[in-house]
Formats: sequence, C-alpha cells, structure tokens
Amino acid sequence: MSSAPIALALHGGCGTLPPDELTPAEWAESRDHLAEALRAGWDVLKRGGRSLDAVEATVVVLENSPHFNAGHGAALNAAHEHELDSAIMDGATLSAGAVAGAQRIRNPVKAARALLERNEAILLIGPAADRFAEEAGLVVVENSYFTTPRRIDMLRRMKAHKASGTAASEGEKHGTVGAVACDRHGHLAAATSTGGYTNKPPGRVGDSPLIGAGTYARDGVCAVSCTGMGEYFMRAVAGHEIAAQMSLAGRSLDEATQAMVFDVIGKQGIGAGLCAVDAAGHVVVPFNTVGMYRGFVNADGDCYVGTHADLEFRGTWDRN
Ligand code: ASP
Repeated sequence: MSSAPIALALHGGCGTLPPDELTPAEWAESRDHLAEALRAGWDVLKRGGRSLDAVEATVVVLENSPHFNAGHGAALNAAHEHELDSAIMDGATLSAGAVAGAQRIRNPVKAARALLERNEAILLIGPAADRFAEEAGLVVVENSYFTTPRRIDMLRRMKAHKASGTAASEGEKHGTVGAVACDRHGHLAAATSTGGYTNKPPGRVGDSPLIGAGTYARDGVCAVSCTGMGEYFMRAVAGHEIAAQMSLAGRSLDEATQAMVFDVIGKQGIGAGLCAVDAAGHVVVPFNTVGMYRGFVNADGDCYVGTHADLEFRGTWDRN
C-alpha cells in the first residue's frame, strides 16, 4: 500500500448568515455537524477506504443536517418547492454521477453515486432522477421533508427583497455542501449537494451537478467543490479551470483557488468559496464572504471547523 497523506475538507456553503442571526447554541450545533461530517469521511480514509466513499459519507451527514442548504434544510425555489442538485466525481477514473432538479431523493449524493456506479448516464434530471433513485433502492421522501422553518423565512425574505428592490445577504440567498478527499492510494474525489439559491426559478440548474463547474476531481492534480452563485462558476468552468491552471500553468492549489475565488469570481462582486485538495493532501477552503461553513483534517491529522473568520481546533485525529 502506498502511503499518500490522507486528507479531507468540506464546506457547508459560503452563504453563511451574520453571527447575530442565530443563537450561540445554533452555531455550536452547526459546527458539531461539520465535525460529525468530517468524522464520517475520516473513518473511511483512515481504514484505507476510498476517497469516493469518504466524500459521499461526509456529504450525507451534511445533507441530513438542517443547518445547510442541501437535503433536509435545502433552499426553496420561487414555487415553494425544493429542487436538489448533486454530483460526485472519482479522480482516479474520471467517472462521475449527478442529479439535478430532484424532488424526492432523501440523499441526492447517494443517487449521484449510484449513477456513477451504473456508468451509463452521468446526469439525470427531475422525475427521471427521482425514479432512478427509487429503483436503485434509495430512500425517497415527500418534498416537504426538505423544508425547515429557516428556509420558509428565507423565501419570505427573498420575495420581500425582490418586491422592494433591496439587496439580500449571501446567507439569505444560498448555500451548498461539498467535500473533497485524498485517500491512502493518492486517489482524489469530490462531491457537492445543494438546494441552489432561495427563490430560484423552477427548473433552474446550478453549477453543483455540472462536472467541471461546481464539482471536479482528477488524480495527480486536485479535487474541488464550489459554493456561490452557480451561474458564475458555470461561466468560469471553475473546477476544471482550477485543475487546468495547476496542470497546464504550473500553479499551486493555493494560487489556482485564490485566483478563482478572489479574482475570476470575486472581482464580479459575487460571493464565492470552495474546498479543494491536491495530490499531496494539501487542503484549502478559501472564501470571500462574511463566513463559510467549513472544516478540514489536514495531512498532519489536525481537524478544524468554522463558520466565520475563526477556526475551532477539534484535535489531532488518528490516521490509522
Ligand atoms: N452553487 C449553488 C448553486 O448555484 C449555490 C451555492 O453554493 O450557494 O446552485
């Protein structure tokens, strides 16, 4: 067994609310859920498991938490419904699976993974995605399962902003969850899951399920999961562009991701963030907003989680 440094990073979206909008207990719980999600992925990696399994396990925990805009707690569209997007990519084989506009799949990332394994279509949309998940034996739920009081409030606020022409905060607008990992064999993987942005038009698909835009992984280079207004990431083909900057222009992961978040997208006045890992197990979580739910376990096993500027140290995690 080769001994690549295992590493894992996640984001829970760059649409974090300002600190005073939630109680200290709610912020603490969201950080606990970030750590729980890291733990799920880390347990896979440390026992020699695949990065693909690690990112899926990590994203499932975030989808099940009400704190993040994915799965339970996902954003509502303009028609007061949830339409969920997700993708997963294996950097070793460039295999990928994705669903868009899904309305009944409890854990969209599991459907993306099942599609990757099926190795037929990469992306299924709407009712076909829901049917595929059901046929694959995944749990399907009523659309209302995804709704939380916070998302109802955000939709009300977004509709009010639209009516009055006032600006919405990043936290009111959007969020997403994602994970990237490097496993003991040096294989990279990325996964992303989202409800998109609040009050989005029905049928709108964002960057998250588009391979190369919001989600991308290629062994030897990097794995990336993005968050922020998807239309900008789609135009930039952000995930693939970061990989191209590294593989063709010789940029480091830091340089390529900083350029994407702060120059390519940030200079357009758009909130942006991502998590990424390179082939050496170096992790980054850049963002240009007031906060980004994020966490990582770096190549030394040090675990950190955070929502705003500060990171909370969660100990040095056992690598074996
Ligand atoms: N990228 C997501 C989308 O556009 C939203 C977000 O990350 O905030 O669907």
